[in-house]
Amino acid sequence: MPQDEAEQQPGVARRRLLTGTASYLATAMLNPAHAQELPSAEKAPRNQSRTDPGPENRELQAASPNAFLPPETDHGEVQTFWNSFSSAHRRIQEGGWSRQVTVEDFPISKDIAGVNMRLTAGGIRELHWHNAAEWALMLTGRARITAIDDEGRSFVKDVGVNDLWFFPTGTPHSIQGLAPDGCEFLLVFDDGKFSEGNTTLISDWARHTPREVLAKNFGVPESEIAPVYTVPPEGHYIFQQAVPPALEEDQRAAAGSKPLSPVAFDFAMHAMEPTYKTKSGEVRVIDSRNFPVSTTIAAAHVVVKPGGLRELHWHQNADEWQYYVQGRGRMTVFFNGGKARTQDFNAGDVGYVPRTFGHYIENTGNTDLIFLEMFKAPRFEDLSLSDWISHTPPELVMQHLKISRETLARIPKRKLPVVPA
Ligand code: MN
Ligand code: MN
Repeated sequence: MPQDEAEQQPGVARRRLLTGTASYLATAMLNPAHAQELPSAEKAPRNQSRTDPGPENRELQAASPNAFLPPETDHGEVQTFWNSFSSAHRRIQEGGWSRQVTVEDFPISKDIAGVNMRLTAGGIRELHWHNAAEWALMLTGRARITAIDDEGRSFVKDVGVNDLWFFPTGTPHSIQGLAPDGCEFLLVFDDGKFSEGNTTLISDWARHTPREVLAKNFGVPESEIAPVYTVPPEGHYIFQQAVPPALEEDQRAAAGSKPLSPVAFDFAMHAMEPTYKTKSGEVRVIDSRNFPVSTTIAAAHVVVKPGGLRELHWHQNADEWQYYVQGRGRMTVFFNGGKARTQDFNAGDVGYVPRTFGHYIENTGNTDLIFLEMFKAPRFEDLSLSDWISHTPPELVMQHLKISRETLARIPKRKLPVVPA
């Protein structure tokens, strides 16, 4: 039987797998091509141990090569710290859609839940509020956002790609897609149990208030509020309307007799200079120090060039929730006590690192890797492994890591968020 045919016979393949090295060597002797593939007699069993002849979801496997074939430094049982919006249910309505990753589907993520939402031009995410604070990054297109501050003063702004917003717990707000093609954005909530299906919608509330009470509250006849009760039982949530008028017109009409709110619920990250910049990447830190309204959520927006590495580091003050905007990378999270796991991340994926656990993120693709580090905290805080060991008595470090004085001398002497630089 020619070698090619033998390869295609499942029985032959299984037999070779079961008999291991001996069969492999026999095949190698018969076929010079196989002989070249076999680096050494000791390696053959290991290669056989890695084979995977059974069923496989090839797309998922290709997206996560480091899970399929882990680095030899990975070890132990570790809770899953990967999830993806790409496999989440989309709630599609006229005007757009939403999908979410919450602690229900991602048990490690107790501090933070994420929502990904699309609104068409004119599509409205209904006027509402919720029992969690909302932080947002605009991913594509433009939207008009509205809110009121604690004094009841109006906020109406237009936001575009790489702009942010923050609405504190209980602050009522809305989002509407603008021309030409609406928008898509990421929402981050400071509670893993948050759900888009459990927010206070204006139409839902009004519709479930007795007609005579709603009429009395607004000081109008019952007949005039009757249309409220034609809204679907669960409210609008997302619905299609016309694109709103010019921003100034909406701002004037919303303000009425009060001044506009002096509170900046939005942040123009697209115009922000990097907080850290090396030749391998950029980091922008946005927290309550430069975005004062954002008292419960801190963020770092990270760009890592191909081959670059977000250095080995940890965060003292909070768990880290990640969203991958672009590119491809891998992260190893060290869970202490000999436990470590490596996982690949692609655009649309979500990652999580428990507070104080050491980690790095390496760009494994050939485009810029862009991701968010999000924290339920007023401030971004991190410590760098390089910074630590270069500001500790050298003898002490050399004794621990068994490295020479010369090697220690070459290690960066400060925090370099993205290396090599
Ligand atoms: Mn909201
Ligand atoms: Mn981090």
